[in-house]
Amino acid sequence: MHEVSVISGMVNAVIEELKKHDVASVTSVEIVIGDLTQLGEEQLSFAYEIVTRGTILEGSVLSIEHEPIEVSCDGCGYKGPVTMLDAGDFSSHAIPVLSCPECGGHVKVTSGQSCCVRSLEIEEAD
Ligand SMILES: [Zn+2]
Repeated sequence: MHEVSVISGMVNAVIEELKKHDVASVTSVEIVIGDLTQLGEEQLSFAYEIVTRGTILEGSVLSIEHEPIEVSCDGCGYKGPVTMLDAGDFSSHAIPVLSCPECGGHVKVTSGQSCCVRSLEIEEAD
């Protein structure tokens, strides 16, 4: 499960960061997941619960914010979302088409690849 390794990496990074501060407990962790990563929200939450067990993050809430896929086209100047294909029975995810919906040209992905921690809500120790 790819989600477990992603979450492990994030949780380890957060724990390292928290070591630098006097933190009593962590209330919530907000992460941003680009839709292009195709990571499942349910699997991420499940992985988070397992990975944080026995750490300072145990019991904190993982809130997941989605970042939509956006591209920019050099050919026609299009900027915006891409066409999504329904993968039907093969996947619960729609499959993004990474070419320009206007002219079919090559595009640069400008949004949707994020996979990072946005903010932490902590309670500081007295
Ligand atoms: Zn274009």
